[in-house]
Amino acid sequence: MRKPVIAGNWKLHKTIPEALELIEALKKDLADKTDIDIVVAPVFTALAPTAQSLKGSPIALAAQNCYFENSGAFTGEVSPALLKDAGCSHVIVGHSERRQLFGETDELINHKIKAVLAEGLTPIFCIGETLEERESDAMMDVLKRQVTVGLNGLNEAQMLNVVVAYEPVWAIGTGKVASTDQAQEAHAFIRGLLAGLFSTSIAEQVRILYGGSVKPDNVDGLMAQTDIDGTLVGGASLKAADFIRIARFE
Ligand code: 13P
Repeated sequence: MRKPVIAGNWKLHKTIPEALELIEALKKDLADKTDIDIVVAPVFTALAPTAQSLKGSPIALAAQNCYFENSGAFTGEVSPALLKDAGCSHVIVGHSERRQLFGETDELINHKIKAVLAEGLTPIFCIGETLEERESDAMMDVLKRQVTVGLNGLNEAQMLNVVVAYEPVWAIGTGKVASTDQAQEAHAFIRGLLAGLFSTSIAEQVRILYGGSVKPDNVDGLMAQTDIDGTLVGGASLKAADFIRIARFE
């Protein structure tokens, strides 16, 4: 009932020619994959050329971040309207690297989600606890705060256009994937939070992705979990063969 989403977050990697080379490989091998939503998120400078290359392909384009104002004296920022203009349909918002390295707060992320939705784009809203938070039994409180503040003020129709990504910070780039049980437990908890904030029907329809060391050899187990509707892939999305195998999960 929920269409899976397989998204690649390329982070700060790949020049324009390198991005186009990877896109060529993905287009060739994933042209028939219309039963899932495939999304790639290159760096800002590669977005417009990548969008040109993706014309006519079912692969969707995401930015990795945005600001919440659409124009004005905000040196160095990029707005949802400009991302749409460049060919994006999705924007990753609130990634843990933005939260940790660039001080993004839940309130700022909430503004960004609303701005992305107002432009008709789909936010991929990232949440997740650190190792310290998990070990001190604060995981549920942290997820509850991130979800409650991050989605504050959204109505049900808007919520249906949000994709949530659960990315435990301790599993990102570490090779330490959450066990299928740990991931399923967190996803079920997040779906419960959405039911409380919106409705059971909305919670049942929202896609919740898992991110953190997703690889070809662990994707099948993750995707077999009831509440895991897709993956947000970092390192393994940079290699065509790995990302293609992940998108062809079994
Ligand atoms: P890795 O897959 O490299 O662990 O990164 C996950 C991530 O942060 C995707 O947004």
